[in-house]
Amino acid sequence: MPPIYDKPTREEYDYIVIGGGSGGSGTARRAASYGKTVALVELTSKPGGTCVNVGCVPKKIMWHAADLQDKISHHTKGYKFHGVENAKFDWKSFKPQRDEYIKRLNGIYASNWDREGIELHQGFGSFISPTEVQVTLPDNKGTYTLKSKNICVAVGGHPNIPSEEEVPGASLGITSDGFFELAEQPKRVALVGAGYIAVELAGIFNALGTETHLLIRGDGVLRTFDPAIQETITPWIEKTGVRLHKQRHVTRIEQPGGKGTPLVVHTQEGEKLEVDVLLWAIGRKASTAGMGLEKIGVQLDDRGDVVVDEYQNSNVPGITAIGDAQGKWLLTPVAVAAGRRLSNRLFGGEKFKEDKLSYENIPTVVFSHPPIGTVGMTEPEAREKYGDDAVKIYKTSFRALYFSMIEEEHKEPTMYKLVVVGPEERVVGVHILGQGSDEVMQGFGVAVKMGARKQDLDDTVAIHPTSGEELVTLR
Ligand code: FAD
Ligand code: NDP
Repeated sequence: MPPIYDKPTREEYDYIVIGGGSGGSGTARRAASYGKTVALVELTSKPGGTCVNVGCVPKKIMWHAADLQDKISHHTKGYKFHGVENAKFDWKSFKPQRDEYIKRLNGIYASNWDREGIELHQGFGSFISPTEVQVTLPDNKGTYTLKSKNICVAVGGHPNIPSEEEVPGASLGITSDGFFELAEQPKRVALVGAGYIAVELAGIFNALGTETHLLIRGDGVLRTFDPAIQETITPWIEKTGVRLHKQRHVTRIEQPGGKGTPLVVHTQEGEKLEVDVLLWAIGRKASTAGMGLEKIGVQLDDRGDVVVDEYQNSNVPGITAIGDAQGKWLLTPVAVAAGRRLSNRLFGGEKFKEDKLSYENIPTVVFSHPPIGTVGMTEPEAREKYGDDAVKIYKTSFRALYFSMIEEEHKEPTMYKLVVVGPEERVVGVHILGQGSDEVMQGFGVAVKMGARKQDLDDTVAIHPTSGEELVTLR
């Protein structure tokens, strides 16, 4: 394991980064590539942050497991593979294997930092002044001070959970962090929420055979996505076996039998649901509390996000923020890209003095079953901005060829939609759902970013037989 520093090695660093997750690592490494002296302060002994430890990476591994289970249980029969459809996932032996892989990634992060001359200081970073960071060593074993004129706040966020006043017994539930700690597969689970995490984890549990209840406040999931996505995924989730409880508000959670026994989830609507695990997936919050940011005059919004300008500057000179800590677009590649560009601007010389991340047209994927990809404006957003007359929609729904061999009830939907505007039919939104959409999306993200017109898609020769080809042959 590379060295972990427990005191400063110099009077002043060129750059201090607080938080060793996606964004912090990205910005620290780019600064170091310019020969700058960098101290990276990370609270935990697990370099890599949310994405590596309790986010994208272990989640996608679980999604692959669930995807395989789907194929084994529902698809192998149609493709005439005999005798495999009863194979079952072994959560108990898979988890330690997954953890081992994550541990390797933690090591790779730390080694990369060390190789590139970045000092890893393990402890809690907080501000003494706009140029001084106090590092509090683990278990409160002491403190020391690091100094720099450039300090980046890259502390990420953590899951929201209702207070005990709001929902008595709320703390009996777990969050996505707890999902990754589950040593055994629960038999019955209730998830609360309707966003990325609720949809992804409900899909994983359900595919792997857990009785899965999803409690949502409204009538559909992914309310911020294009209506065509919501209208396709919501009934499909139900069809695959997730028990969707619409218009539900959790009011109380009890564990009548004591620790380790089932939970009873009460809703305002009078429902009483017995489950083994309750998982809150109701959004995340920046981890800025207790860092002394307000004390040194850094403006935070009412959710605790650092308020930054388009260059990631806070209102205090020299203090910047990136990634989930600034509350916009909580995605790993966004944190990484903003962090790298910030270091380009701060340390990369004249060529990069205006460098910044454009937050427009960021492609994103929800790893549901099947996955969803989206970039740009939803139809309502485009109508609001350009007016009804300027907006045209191209849309298709079909079954991918793969499903031609599979029983009707397991044929997954595919829905592709383009939102185009103006006489030149500029593509301002692409919304896709269906097998492979996670991989299809990246290329269309490039096209939208480049300002593609519908005609440009039409002029692109299709790749056959694929699902993606439908996006260049829409009429
Ligand atoms: P983080 O990665 O959270 O890193 C912050 C780091 O700061 C942490 O290591 C933390 O320990 C440390 N820290 C906090 N406070 C302090 C302090 N005071 N001092 C020192 N260190 C501190 N995004 C995607 O793009 N694709 C996905 O598929 C995806 N899946 C996700 C699944 C789940 C379940 C979750 C929860 C998130 C997912 N995300 C996904 C979002 C993604 O993980 C985050 O957007 C990303 O990790 C943010 O990076 P960050 O650097 O801002 O923060
Ligand atoms: P989201 O913001 O995506 O969704 C949370 C949802 O929970 C809201 O849309 C809301 O839906 C519902 N909600 C909010 N408050 C309550 C409440 N008090 N009671 C019941 N429901 C509530 O947050 P997530 O926690 O799912 O994920 C956080 C972020 O992490 C995402 O926004 C995304 O940026 C990132 N992420 C990215 C992933 C990816 O890239 N694939 C995967 C996972 C996370 P409604 O208003 O309809 O009730």
